[in-house]
Amino acid sequence: MPDSHYAAELRRQPETARFAAPVEAEYRRSALRENRTLIRLACTLALLLLGLRAGEAISGSGSLASLALLPTVVLSSAVLAWLAWSRGFERHYLPWAEVLVPVRNCLVAVQVIHIVALGEIENLMLLPMLLIGPFFFLGLRYRTALATAVLTLASMAGAAVVFHLPPATALRGGALLIVSAVTLGFAAWQVEKRSRRSFLEAGIVAELAQQDVLTWTKNRRVFDEYLPRLWRQAASDARSLAILVIDVDHFKTYNDRYGHQAGDVVLRQVALAIQRQVHRPLDLVARYGGEEFAAILYDTDCAGARYAAERMRGAVEELAIEHRESLSGAVLTISVGVAVVAPTGARNASGALQLADEALYQAKAKGRNRVELMDEGAHQLLATGVFAKEQFASLRRSRD
Ligand code: GH3
Ligand code: MG
Ligand code: MG
Repeated sequence: MPDSHYAAELRRQPETARFAAPVEAEYRRSALRENRTLIRLACTLALLLLGLRAGEAISGSGSLASLALLPTVVLSSAVLAWLAWSRGFERHYLPWAEVLVPVRNCLVAVQVIHIVALGEIENLMLLPMLLIGPFFFLGLRYRTALATAVLTLASMAGAAVVFHLPPATALRGGALLIVSAVTLGFAAWQVEKRSRRSFLEAGIVAELAQQDVLTWTKNRRVFDEYLPRLWRQAASDARSLAILVIDVDHFKTYNDRYGHQAGDVVLRQVALAIQRQVHRPLDLVARYGGEEFAAILYDTDCAGARYAAERMRGAVEELAIEHRESLSGAVLTISVGVAVVAPTGARNASGALQLADEALYQAKAKGRNRVELMDEGAHQLLATGVFAKEQFASLRRSRD
């Protein structure tokens, strides 16, 4: 398999280390999407609980000591809950949560230690929740959750000194926190390790399902799904599309002379040479079947399409693969049929492909190892938006 980012990361056996930048960004997006329900639930519950405690404190019936910190805690919980449910969740939630969750956690930790120091010792049970919470609020991410837990522990220790927590209570609290932190750390590490591994495995499976097993270009299924999609996009952006159909010349006789396995090796070389000429992100090269490839070039006019097709043809010729049985030269060559069309809702993509096929037919008829181009000006049938096979047949008959 050619350089798959996912396979490379899996080979490194990353455990919970970060992936290389683009894969890491994709992993974070996917993990965030996967954990969306959990995050929403955690944020909503936290807002309810803290709102309730704030209500108790304000009405004087509760035990929350420091009223000064309340607005920040409730406001940050409200912002997080709103972001968790908003449309901008994927873009905005994490950057805000990475700041607000540690701040809120430290403030609540200080308050809890304060009320414990005032004698309400049963509130010690809240401390482990403060270590576990960030793990859920931050989408089950091990490192950020652990960093938040360490910050929280530090603010608890500071508050214990400031509020003169009795040593016996501090010891009990400390033991509880150490057990919770170790258990949490181990569980979080395991969860993230598995999540990262299954993300890479899913990525590899998705890539494999798109690839042609012989040439490692995209397969026909990808092309057939992609063409109508790009067609619609080009129609709405008012851009042109160039469709190229590429066929190896006299390949049957190549197989007959050099053997089928040598033919397979050559197909791989040809695919690579063609693929190297296509760089733009929306463009696609696929193995269409047998010794035939197809390419789609987005927003490409006749001159650009002809240039790209000529470069493909030249690149294959330059491979200088000996083909003694070829009737069109001493080396293996390709013919390219090109159709340049302006997609509209009334025309259809398979008609455009048929037009490229017709251009390929002409390239073969004119001697092979050449590029033939069809555009709207060159083909009156395009004006009707219909590209039926019979019409091409009648066109050929009238030409002959
Ligand atoms: P033309 O110049 O008109 O295209 O002639 P051609 O011989 O290339 O065309 P034809 O359609 O008669 O033959 C295509 C050949 O491609 C037949 C088949 O043996 C070969 N072929 C198709 N798929 C593969 C493949 O996966 N591996 C190999 N080695 N050969 C293949
Ligand atoms: Mg052929
Ligand atoms: Mg063929």
